[in-house]
Amino acid sequence: MEKNLVIVGGGAAGPSAAAEAKRGDPALKVTIVEQGPFVSTAA
Ligand SMILES: Cc1cc2nc3c(=O)[nH]c(=O)nc-3n(C[C@H](O)[C@H](O)[C@H](O)COP(=O)(O)OP(=O)(O)OC[C@H]3O[C@@H](n4cnc5c(N)ncnc54)[C@H](O)[C@@H]3O)c2cc1C
Repeated sequence: MEKNLVIVGGGAAGPSAAAEAKRGDPALKVTIVEQGPFVSTAA
């Protein structure tokens, strides 16, 4: 069965969590929901 992960927030932590989750399970379907116009603007 396909597994889905929805992450709320596309700042620093959200994309990091998404990457870590995908490393653990490459087949995982990850969706990031960001309320603002930009995702992961931190350097
Ligand atoms: C003025 C300032 C300067 C800083 N300068 C530095 C610096 O130079 N170097 C450094 O390392 N750190 C800096 N920081 C700290 C750094 O910004 C934070 O540590 C980091 O952004 C935290 O990341 P986060 O993902 O936890 O939260 P955030 O970056 O706050 O990300 C949370 C995201 O969730 C989104 N969100 C919230 N609620 C919802 C919702 N209901 N639906 C959808 N999206 C939602 C927000 O829009 C946001 O994009 C600074 C912080 C501030 C305030």
